[in-house]
Amino acid sequence: PSPINPELHLNIRMVPYGQGQRLLVVRDITRLHRLERMRRDFVANVSHELRTPLTVLRGYLEVLEGGGNGNPEVWVRSFKTMQDQVARMQHLIEDLLMLSRLENRNKKPAEVPVAVPEMLEGICREARMLSGDRQHQIRLKAETSLWLRGDERELHSAFSNLVVNAIRYTPAQGSITLHWFKQADQPCLEVRDTGEGIAAEHLPRLTERFYRVDKGRSREKGGTGLGLAIVKHVLNHHEARLEVESELGKGSVFRCLFPAERSHRPRIHLSEAG
Ligand code: ADP
Repeated sequence: PSPINPELHLNIRMVPYGQGQRLLVVRDITRLHRLERMRRDFVANVSHELRTPLTVLRGYLEVLEGGGNGNPEVWVRSFKTMQDQVARMQHLIEDLLMLSRLENRNKKPAEVPVAVPEMLEGICREARMLSGDRQHQIRLKAETSLWLRGDERELHSAFSNLVVNAIRYTPAQGSITLHWFKQADQPCLEVRDTGEGIAAEHLPRLTERFYRVDKGRSREKGGTGLGLAIVKHVLNHHEARLEVESELGKGSVFRCLFPAERSHRPRIHLSEAG
């Protein structure tokens, strides 16, 4: 680190230069240093996220190995917790694989027409199941003739992550509204919730891998800390932008804005249109 500014990392070397002279070479390696730190943090985070459920599993296996006090209730409870932990690890690994796929490809996404309104209907159905007895009000307003050109699987994953977050961070009976429309020329998905909201200081870091406002709460609700990182990558890949507005205690709005060129108008089949 530089003694003047510890944020700055410099590589300083003296090399022979001409007759009896020396050249001082100063290289700014701040970016390299930051990338290396991010890589180390990432490995530490993944290890930690996997170690926690494994420790819990091991604890329960030991209880069951000892006969579970011969109590059927202990067996049932143990199996339930073990299933939850396995699901948590599986979820984390799926998110990691998705992220690694997104980071490792540099070609443009498929230019396939994607029926976004239908996709959003499906996501809302899944969201209602996820909400269960918390009974959120989930509404969808969608322009039916507005489709996108892109990668269906990636877009589904991004939109679904935003809706799952809205459910996760909105108390029972709160409302979640999806709006799919054209803002000026740009296709836009807005996911609005009446949930707990996010303080302004956290907003710039939300899409970092494993960044969470409250680690404990996110884990308890089944979060991996990778959802918004996936959203950001998918949107980047589609030259789209993510905007967030939020007010603590009131709720949040996440907006995905796509370039006008990505919009697609489905062809209406005359026979179907009657
Ligand atoms: P997680 O799996 O923890 O939800 P994400 O990357 O999806 O990870 O989100 C990062 C963090 O952003 C969350 O831990 C949560 O603190 C905050 N967050 C995301 N969406 C919302 C939302 N709709 N309302 C409130 N907080 C949110």
